[in-house]
Amino acid sequence: MPLPNDTPSHKKSTVPRKIGVLTSGGDAAGMNASVRAVVRYGISKGCHVYGVYEGYQGLVDGGDRIRRMDWKSVRGWLSVGGTSIGTARCMPFKTREGRLKAAENLVHNGIDSLIVCGGDGSLTGADVFRSEWSGLLEELRAADRITEEEATTYCHLTIVGLVGSIDNDMAGTDITIGAVTSLHRICESVDSIGTTALSHSRAFVIEVMGRHCGWLALMAGIATGADFVFIPERPPMEDDWESTMCAVAHRHRELGKRKTVIIVAEGAIDKSLKPIRPEYIKDILTDRLGLDTRVTTLGHTQRGGSPAAYDRILATVQGVCAVDAVLRSTPDIPSPLIGMTSNKVTCGPLMKAVELTHEVAKAIGEKNFARAMELRDPQFAEEFNAYTASTIVDDESDLLPPHLRLRIAIVHMGAPAGGMNAATRTAVRYALNRGHTPFAVYNGFPGLVRGSIEELTWIGVDGWTSRGGSELGTNRAVPGEEVDMGMVAYQLQKFNIQAIMIVGGFEAFSALIELDKARAKYPSLCIPIGLIPATVSNNVPGTDFSLGSDTSLNSIIDACDSIIQSARSSRRRVFVVEVQGGKSGYLAVEGGLATGANTVYIPEEGIKLERLQSDVRHLMALYLDDAADKAEGRIILRNEKVSKTYTTDVISSILKDEGRGLFDSRTAVLGHIQQGNTPSPMDRIHATRLAMRCIDFVEQHTHEALEKAHVLGESVPIELTSAPESIAVVGLTGAEVHFPSVRELLPTTDVINRKPVKAWWFEHRGLVDLLSGRGLFTPEAQASLEEK
Ligand code: ADP
Repeated sequence: MPLPNDTPSHKKSTVPRKIGVLTSGGDAAGMNASVRAVVRYGISKGCHVYGVYEGYQGLVDGGDRIRRMDWKSVRGWLSVGGTSIGTARCMPFKTREGRLKAAENLVHNGIDSLIVCGGDGSLTGADVFRSEWSGLLEELRAADRITEEEATTYCHLTIVGLVGSIDNDMAGTDITIGAVTSLHRICESVDSIGTTALSHSRAFVIEVMGRHCGWLALMAGIATGADFVFIPERPPMEDDWESTMCAVAHRHRELGKRKTVIIVAEGAIDKSLKPIRPEYIKDILTDRLGLDTRVTTLGHTQRGGSPAAYDRILATVQGVCAVDAVLRSTPDIPSPLIGMTSNKVTCGPLMKAVELTHEVAKAIGEKNFARAMELRDPQFAEEFNAYTASTIVDDESDLLPPHLRLRIAIVHMGAPAGGMNAATRTAVRYALNRGHTPFAVYNGFPGLVRGSIEELTWIGVDGWTSRGGSELGTNRAVPGEEVDMGMVAYQLQKFNIQAIMIVGGFEAFSALIELDKARAKYPSLCIPIGLIPATVSNNVPGTDFSLGSDTSLNSIIDACDSIIQSARSSRRRVFVVEVQGGKSGYLAVEGGLATGANTVYIPEEGIKLERLQSDVRHLMALYLDDAADKAEGRIILRNEKVSKTYTTDVISSILKDEGRGLFDSRTAVLGHIQQGNTPSPMDRIHATRLAMRCIDFVEQHTHEALEKAHVLGESVPIELTSAPESIAVVGLTGAEVHFPSVRELLPTTDVINRKPVKAWWFEHRGLVDLLSGRGLFTPEAQASLEEK
């Protein structure tokens, strides 16, 4: 999620702005991270930042509900769910009288800008407030509640919106703060319910939040492999949807499934807008299929808990952009909304986003479901199709004509990464729906050479969505290097493999390079080969995200939260935490941003002695500035490959010695914990989408040769394609899936350091230090602290 190009550099503004920040409406995990970023980044830009407690109620009440925030007031907030400045539904703010009081309180506190984090209701309220502002000031002046000077000084109010909503129901952004965490909670619950459902061979109907938005229900359905989902934007199109649902559940049972899981959004409806209630679904499943069915309403568990890594990062970078938007604002610019489109932070007109959001509910009300789907982010419809095609449609309606059907091998390569199994499951099921024959290659290319290949079945991959590691077994050996290419070609021909889907990291990318080179020699390699990037290091060229990288970040934040808690509970201690990533600093930088690390050491920068010295001085200043009796835990993330000299132990010893007793230091090497246990929902969802697109990709690249042979009545050739673009990475670029070929990617690949030359996340590097207080102390302040 790169920052917008126009983000100004970190220079201080000359006139201090007074910014109020509030959270409003339903609470969402990550709101605290956004407040922290607004406070700290605002201070770093010379602004005065005020926390408005209890949402708009705090504005109306004033007094101690509007408090000046300092750097330390938001310490530790990244990992805290909900919102620590409180939120409320405030009826008075819906009245002009209430807003008049709010305006008076803002003026008396000298606040000229408001950053509001909330849902569409809160943001509508914010815009109403801004549009009325001059009228409110006139009224206050007329009643002598503010002075003439105040009326002139505060004649403009700047409003910037951040979208905090678990439903992901806002237009103008692909994703809202809190939605991913909520999805984590849902998936944890559905996974748990799954084990009991399986034990008793039961059916469960699970209701999730989402009155007008099916994002949570659909994504949970994809991420947990649910049998059926009901969402408001796309009701079942059949009159008798009950029979369709029962047919699907029945087919799945016949194939061998022991559990049935149906996910229903709160606002699910049928095509005549009649609500579809969980209890009704339960009765249908019980009466018609005789299934022992239970209903579970997840309710407020969906709002709770510590924010997922994604929400912490999203809220942080958006909070930074919100402050920049305040500093850029002029009276004639409409209030902006900070969004996220195609993995880029955006700044668009707030009111337009609110209007479009209301249009979804209107379109649903008018039964214009196509429009409702269109108004969602572009991935939504694609995800819906991926879900349907990989989970539900096994009724032969998607079958290809026999001559276009393929024998597809699936290989896992490199270290295990969350989502490898989910990708394999989707590929197998979607391939079967198309009439292909999917094969598992066990233990990577060495397994292929040994002939360790087996046909995969629909039921054989059941439950794989939520399984970590690699069910097929993964191996680092690269064909043409550690594995004999001639044997690879021989086995592919022997098993008549006509397409390959590789799931893996940089080794897999190296395999593509070698396979591409060897095509001239071996006709059996002239088949389409798609690589689904899967590695915790996120260093595969041609994609913004690799499967496993999100799971890994979540493991890192869990571990770091515990480490910080332990350090804080005992003494003043700095932990040097070693993270993986090979020669890529992705995990350190994004992990650093998500945990509030003091700094990060990454291969892209290396470590110099001066840098360590400056870091020690900064840590000393921070500890000197802490309250005397306060034990504070701080962490530094060090990438495993950053330096041979400055190892994790060496850095920790230097910190301890140079810290002159102000703080102690310890190390923690997270090691294989980072490969995660259960894959994160984001990794599962990406896996599903990429796997389906990979099958489309191999079909596309074999179509011409297979059609030609069919028309001419010839036997199917071994060589199906030698086009360079048929060996490609199936990558995510922003919101899109692209298929950059290995040849296209090579010029932008740093092969020696095993990563792409440029990485989007590097823009976040500076924020890690900035938000941990670098630049907080002038050299004089630092010297005076040290003197004490
Ligand atoms: P959300 O922001 O999560 O959609 P609500 O719709 O409950 O939540 O809105 C939160 C608060 O925003 C309301 O309690 C109210 O104070 C304020 N608000 C909502 N709509 C308006 C409006 N049209 N005018 C003024 N304030 C509003």
